[in-house]
Amino acid sequence: MAVGAGSALLLCFIPMPYGRYSSRRFGWLLPARPAWALQELPSLLVPLGLAACGGAVAAARPNRVLLGCFLLHYVHRALIFPLLIREGKPTPFFTFVLALLFCVFNGYLQGRSLTTYATYPPGWLGDSRFITGFLGWLIGMAINIHSDHILRNLRKPGETGYKIPRGGMFEYVSGANFFGEILEWFGFALACCTIESLAFALCTLFILGSRARQHHKWYLEKFEDYPKDRKIVIPFLY
Ligand code: NDP
Repeated sequence: MAVGAGSALLLCFIPMPYGRYSSRRFGWLLPARPAWALQELPSLLVPLGLAACGGAVAAARPNRVLLGCFLLHYVHRALIFPLLIREGKPTPFFTFVLALLFCVFNGYLQGRSLTTYATYPPGWLGDSRFITGFLGWLIGMAINIHSDHILRNLRKPGETGYKIPRGGMFEYVSGANFFGEILEWFGFALACCTIESLAFALCTLFILGSRARQHHKWYLEKFEDYPKDRKIVIPFLY
């Protein structure tokens, strides 16, 4: 949580240096595809390793379902998303290392929590907290993937510039992909009811909320005809 809050504070002064804010000032530039795949992979491999060595807690049904949700996200993020990127800007080495460390730490945190410590009462998978949280996770992931799909298709092959995103949740917020991811991890936190999953959700809110704010400001400066009623990241609110 402190890492997320500290990052949000820092990101008030400097944009997170990757994508449209990528800069050589933060180290060698790595190609986007392998950088994304390598930096996200620990969030898939570390919990898988922990699950393989896990005991009774890891074997419980709610724990397997919840760990499955986390792993499914990272199968997409580490193995599928990088292959879909079109002409993405290179990632500075510094940003790559920060993201890698985050994924090692968070992969361990969520994996260890769900394979060793989190215990659930009988019938947890039918509990309203699990069901609501699971739906939030599912809808959030769908919004995230759909919004990233819209962004990707703004560019024709070979193009590297930026256009105004339209359709889906972009009609409501500039950071539709980030809104999806934030909803996803808050849903996950409700379904897990663990302090570790709440820490991840808050961290995501701090980091992606800052990035959405920077993108929103950037769009307003770059495009005169940018829709003025579009919010930053939370539909109708912010
Ligand atoms: P961005 O929205 O900055 O960029 C996503 C992709 O779309 C990039 O390839 C980008 O190209 C392209 N793109 C974005 N806007 C436009 C536009 N207006 N016109 C044309 N192309 C555009 O997202 P991020 O790269 O920051 O994040 C990617 C994914 O990773 C998201 O789903 C996000 O939720 C997730 N993520 C999760 C984090 C977490 O803490 N859980 C942290 C960071 C990301 P280019 O690279 O050239 O800018």
